[in-house]
Amino acid sequence: MNNEPLQEPLSAGLYIVATPIGNLADITMRAADVLARCDGVACEDTRVTGKLLKHLGISKPLWRYNDHSEARDRQRLIDSMHSRSVVLVSDAGTPLISDPGFRLVRDAREAGIQVTSLPGACAAITGLTLSGLPNDRFLFAGFLPNKDKARNDMLAGVADIDATLIFYETGPRLVKSLSAIETELPGREVSVARELTKLYEECRTGSPAELADHYTAHPPKGEIVLMVGPPEEKSVGEDDADAMLSEALQTMKASQAVAMVAKATGLDRKMLYTRAMELRAK
Ligand code: SAM
Repeated sequence: MNNEPLQEPLSAGLYIVATPIGNLADITMRAADVLARCDGVACEDTRVTGKLLKHLGISKPLWRYNDHSEARDRQRLIDSMHSRSVVLVSDAGTPLISDPGFRLVRDAREAGIQVTSLPGACAAITGLTLSGLPNDRFLFAGFLPNKDKARNDMLAGVADIDATLIFYETGPRLVKSLSAIETELPGREVSVARELTKLYEECRTGSPAELADHYTAHPPKGEIVLMVGPPEEKSVGEDDADAMLSEALQTMKASQAVAMVAKATGLDRKMLYTRAMELRAK
């Protein structure tokens, strides 16, 4: 006789479930619980997800899904969510993040389906936390384009953004991407995080040229998160501050102009006030 307690079924809806990015122990307790109690799992590759479920001792119907699936198939899956609990997973990490699911979630929400997301592993966030690069502001930009011109254009387009940039990358393309970063975003600190959560996890930080040399000599294997630190803060010179003050004094009181310029430049208020008085006197 089987004495195991019967698990309560889940309420109908869509459950977005993050799975490990290498180390199977990173599955969350909630993810394992929801996978065990759902009616079925929509996944990118039934073999990959089948292996994860086998590891967890779970057997469930698996349905192949990607955002290029026929609209008819997506609609059928969504219709079923009115009465069934459907889990969405990708091969690894958080669904929708450079992975399928965007259209499914959008359409399910529009159809009034209950949608919930279970957080877990994500290579971009794992790489960022490991890199030592500033993380107060970051921009996740997915994969860089494969073609040289498109890659350069994309990098040029994000060059002035005051944030750490995060890209997904593959081994064979890494050196080309580092060279493009050297050209388009010169002088920036770069981090390469490889094989996160796996046996040969590594994270190297340096200039794009140093890292390109290293990975030319040691062609990288496995999966990669490539990160670029923010641009250096431009120091505001006295001339710039004068110009800003002069313009502000045309429409504001001196105290307001000083407060505004101090906030924008980080320069000392007293110094700016003295300068504002001098400019007024001219
Ligand atoms: N949805 C996934 C996530 O949440 O991280 C990302 C899927 S995307 C198709 C696959 C890319 O993620 C890889 O090419 C690599 O850039 C990055 N990646 C996934 N696992 C990784 C790992 N263990 N170490 C480093 N990068 C990884």
